[in-house]
Amino acid sequence: MLRFDRLRVAGIAALLSSLVLTGCSQKTDGVLVYSARNEQLIKPLFDLYTKETGVPIRFVTDDAGPLIERLGAEGANTTADMLMTVDAGELWYAAERDLFQPVNSPILTANIPAHFRDEKNRWFGLSIRARTIVYSTERVKPEDLSTYEALADPRWKGKVCLRTSKKVYNQSLVAMLIAEHGEQQTETIVRGWVSNLATEVFANDVLLMEAIAAGQCDVGIVNTYYFGRLLRDKPTLPVKLFWPDQQGKGVHVNISGAGVTRYARNKEAAQKLLEWLSQPEAQAVFAGANMEYPANPAVKADPAVQAWGEFKHSESNIAQAGALQADAVRLMDRAGYR
Ligand code: FE
Repeated sequence: MLRFDRLRVAGIAALLSSLVLTGCSQKTDGVLVYSARNEQLIKPLFDLYTKETGVPIRFVTDDAGPLIERLGAEGANTTADMLMTVDAGELWYAAERDLFQPVNSPILTANIPAHFRDEKNRWFGLSIRARTIVYSTERVKPEDLSTYEALADPRWKGKVCLRTSKKVYNQSLVAMLIAEHGEQQTETIVRGWVSNLATEVFANDVLLMEAIAAGQCDVGIVNTYYFGRLLRDKPTLPVKLFWPDQQGKGVHVNISGAGVTRYARNKEAAQKLLEWLSQPEAQAVFAGANMEYPANPAVKADPAVQAWGEFKHSESNIAQAGALQADAVRLMDRAGYR
C-alpha cells in the first residue's frame, strides 16, 4: 500500500514538473502570485476575482524572506508575476534587489496614497496595519499615555511588555522612529523601553496582550488586528487600544502590499489584478478579512474596526522602513532589545 502510494506520488510529481516546464516556455492567461500573506486571507479574494473575470490565479505562500530569495534565484526564469508581502520593509528590499518592475497606472496612483507606495511605482500598499499602544483598563488611565517615545519614561519602570525585536514589525517601527528623530535620540528611546520591561520579550502580539490582561505588565505595542482577533475570542479582556502621538506625526502604520515582478510573463494580467485589488470592492474584503484598514482612503474599515475609534496616522513615506531597517536592527541590538 505504502509502495503504491509512493509510486503514485512519484507519478504525480513527474506530471507536475512537466506541467511546470510547459509553463516556463509558454505564456499562460492566469497570474502566479508569491505571497507572504496567508492563504486564508488571499484565497477568497482571488476566487472572487476569478469569478468576476475568468482569470485564474495561482499562488505560493511562504515568509517574505524565502519568497524574495526564490524570486532572486529564479531570475528571468521565474513564473511568478506578482510578489505580495505584509511589511513595507520587505517590499522596499525586493525593489532594492530589482525584483519588481514599475507599474505606471493612473488607477493605482489614484487609489493608493503616495506615502503607501513606492516613488517609482514598483510596489503599492493594499492594506494598512496600525502598530499602536495597548494598555490595561484596570491599571492604566488613557490620560497617562501619549506617545511611543513616552513609554521610555521611568514612570513605566517594570510595566512595559514588548514583542521580540526580531519581528519585522518592530524593526519597521524603530526604522520610522529613526526617520523622525535620528539615531541618537531613537537609541535613547529604545534603551528607555528596554529598561522599563516587566519581563522577557514575547514571541507574538497576542501573548503580549494576554500578559497585560494577566497583570504581568500594563502597556505594550501591538498591531491592531491581533487586538481585534483576541477580543473576538475574549470580549471581556481588560485591554484597550490607545492612539499615540495624535498631536504629532500620528500612529505608526505599516502596509501589506504587492508589485509586479521584473520578469512577469503575464505583466498585463498582473497589473489588472493589482488595479482590481486597489478598488473599493476588493479593498473592503482585503482589509476586512484581517481586521486591517483599507489602503484606499475612499473605503471605510469594517464596522468592528471602526469601533476602535478614529485616529491620525503618520504620513511619512513607509519606504523609509526599508531604507532604515538595517540601522534599526543594529540600534536595537546596541540598546539590548532582544
Ligand atoms: Fe501579523
